[in-house]
Order: sequence, then structure tokens, then C-alpha cells
Amino acid sequence: MSSPGGTPRGPNSPAVAPSTAKWTGDNPENRKYQTDNVDVNRTGDEARDNCIALLYNGLAYRSTEPPAAVLVKAVAVEHAAFAAYNGATPQYKTKLRSLFQNLKNKTNPALGRRVLSGEITPEKFVVMDSDELKSAQLKKLEQDLAKENMKKAQVPMAEKSISDALQCGRCKQKKVSYSQAQTRSADEPMTTFCECTVCGNRWKVRLLWHRITGPDVALTHPSSPEPPPPPPFPPHLRALPPGLSVFG
Ligand SMILES: [Zn+2]
Repeated sequence: MSSPGGTPRGPNSPAVAPSTAKWTGDNPENRKYQTDNVDVNRTGDEARDNCIALLYNGLAYRSTEPPAAVLVKAVAVEHAAFAAYNGATPQYKTKLRSLFQNLKNKTNPALGRRVLSGEITPEKFVVMDSDELKSAQLKKLEQDLAKENMKKAQVPMAEKSISDALQCGRCKQKKVSYSQAQTRSADEPMTTFCECTVCGNRWKVRLLWHRITGPDVALTHPSSPEPPPPPPFPPHLRALPPGLSVFG
């Protein structure tokens, strides 16, 4: 097909429709260079022409632009990739396949329109990364999901945990829920607010987080600077669980 010098078009290729000729199919999702009767042999190099065909099919998908306009853009994008990736290299082929996949992506109809309209130039298009190629809609969705996941990850911190290392002084059950709040400076033990899930008894201890499952737990002094949560520090805490000790 191609002449030794690599003519822009194969000698037997049909004339390209003038750019004013409208596309006259009925379903733009079925558009291909074959159904548009477009000759994609533009470079004299089969591999490159295959890439032009691929780009044509990607750009024509969902578009009602005239075939000649789509072809001009497909050729321009191929040339830009050929220049950017130093010829028909593996990177050039990988990139063009990736661009085709993005153009065919059902959630990203704006991409092809932006390339065809010139909003994204061929030179820019061939160096866009996967994040830049995504639709604004998809980016928004991803941001929302990331926010949601961050919120979910924070829930265990705020949630009350139940520990069987803590024993209720009133009913002696070991079903105590606790929540912790960092008070004063970060290197001080955290204040832990305890509540018996059996009898509702509440009290407050200060302990190191890593000791929560161990016996080395110390109660706060009743007159510590932080006000205890309601109800006030109960007197029956003198009946201490094993391993607990009172300050003062
Ligand atoms: Zn209790």
C-alpha cells in the first residue's frame, strides 16, 4: 500500500469527505472508521495507521462531528504521540491504547468532545495522566468517597469500646465501656471515662492506652483539675476492682 518514501496516504485510498460533510449515521455509539468509510492509512506505516484507526474509533464514539474533522484530530493526536514518545515505541503504543480506553469510557463523555473541540490540544492530550483524563464527575465521586472513608476511619476513635479488663466497683461485672479523651499535654495519660454497661455506674480513670488490657490502671484523684462527668465521683469506688489503686 505505501510508497517507499511513506506518503501521507495509500495510493488507492478513497478521498476523505470534505470537512463540511456531516455525519449521517443514526447511532453515534456505533461509529467506527469502517462504518464512516474513512481511510486511516495516513502515514505509510501500518502500526501507526492502526493507531490512527484506534484514535478515530475512540474520538468518533458518541460524536456527531463530521468524519473528516474526526480524522484530522486522530491524525494530529497520533503525530503528537509519535513526537512525544520518540517514535512508535512501546510507550507510544501503551499511551495510545490508554487514550482509546479513556475515550471509550462510558462515564467520561466529555473527554472526546474536549479533544475534538480543541479545548484539549493533541500535544496536551498525549501527555495527560490517568488522573487528568478522568471526568470531573468521576473526580468528584472519588473525592466524596475519600471524605466518607476518612469519616469512617475516625469512628472507632470516638466510639466507646468495651473492655473486660475493667471491672465495675458496684456490681463487679467486667462489662465496662470506656471512652478516652486526651487532656492537657499529649505525653500525659489519657483520661478514661468508664461506664458499666450492666448497672450504669460511671467513673473516671487515668491510664495509659497501652495498659488498657493490663492490671496497671490507676484511678484519678477525685479532686483532679478536670471535672468528672456526671454523676459526680461515686463514693463506692473505694471497693476497687483487683489491680486498681487510688491516688491520695
Ligand atoms: Zn456495674
